Amino acid sequence: MNDFTDAINAISQTNVMRCYQCGRCSGNCPMAHEMDLLPHQVIQHALMGDRQVCETKSIWLCDGCHTCTERCPRGIDIAGVIDALRMVTTSREMPLAKFNESILTGVRRTGRLNEVILGIHFNLTAKRGLFNGVGDAMRLFRKGKLPIIPHRGANLSKLMDKVRGGEGR
Ligand code: SF4
Ligand code: SF4
Repeated sequence: MNDFTDAINAISQTNVMRCYQCGRCSGNCPMAHEMDLLPHQVIQHALMGDRQVCETKSIWLCDGCHTCTERCPRGIDIAGVIDALRMVTTSREMPLAKFNESILTGVRRTGRLNEVILGIHFNLTAKRGLFNGVGDAMRLFRKGKLPIIPHRGANLSKLMDKVRGGEGR
């Protein structure tokens, strides 16, 4: 496996390597007709470590209905993978110094990485608007993937560094 696939798996807490490309996720996706890459192709690119998948319209067209995730015979959280790709894409668009400062602010205040403080601090310092990304954050929160209270071992910054470090490879 590669760093990009590692990071996507860790953020989404699923394993894209289990995909055997049956296409059931795409066959049941209500947004498939609008997408430039179908959900099973998104998973294929993610498991191959192809960062270009972050450039597709598909990851923004997904409405998070989770039909794909519910129908996947391999138990892959396809919707979660798409959320992870959005997160990685957004982080790549962030000014690096501001992003790092936002990470450190959360660590200074809580002793550990806190994704909520990170998001709020970055939105304010990078003038992105306080509520930028709230929809994605709420989806992650509802799925229990965005802890309000920082937990031991949360290491999103390391995962993001891995993805950033691989840019241009
Ligand atoms: S339904 Fe699951 S196993 Fe089938 S292509 Fe989609 S992600 Fe892969
Ligand atoms: S969660 Fe997204 S990719 Fe999955 S079926 Fe719904 S719209 Fe399609």
